[in-house]
Amino acid sequence: MALNLTQEHIDRMKAHGERAYPHEGCGLLVGRFDAVTNEKTLVNLVLLENAWTDDVAADLAAADLATHGQETTPVMTKARRYWIDPQDLFETQRQARQDGLAIIGVYHSHPDAEAVPSGCDRDLAWPSYAYIIVSVRHSIAADLQNWQLDDNHQFQPEPMNIVPASAAKDRMPLLSS
Ligand SMILES: [Zn+2]
Repeated sequence: MALNLTQEHIDRMKAHGERAYPHEGCGLLVGRFDAVTNEKTLVNLVLLENAWTDDVAADLAAADLATHGQETTPVMTKARRYWIDPQDLFETQRQARQDGLAIIGVYHSHPDAEAVPSGCDRDLAWPSYAYIIVSVRHSIAADLQNWQLDDNHQFQPEPMNIVPASAAKDRMPLLSS
């Protein structure tokens, strides 16, 4: 398994993470799943506003209370969490379908923390998605890593192939078979 993307995609995610600092920045990866090679190809990077609010925190805490019967410590802020507005998700999905593409993953940044998924990241993660995390230290993007869940719902590094910009657009899922 691997994720194909361009250097421009990487640069844009780093720049977005720097702009969002000291908050987490986030976005959606739109592209193609290749069932033959098990590779994902990023075509459109959709950078979004972090929609994390106290209301989202309260909703998640309530859901957690319902699931686990205990309250979680509500110390989460935009500096530690991100939330993709359902309206943004819906609109991105609609546009992707129209373009014959799909959402293949999520990008977000970690202000002054490692580019490694947190427990919360894991709880909310979807199988087969690519999860790119940009570590931003003192407002400078320091590291970028890509992760994917394994069969035990644990994150493992997923290799990234940096491809020329034209290849990311031209590569059709069926040509590789
Ligand atoms: Zn995170």
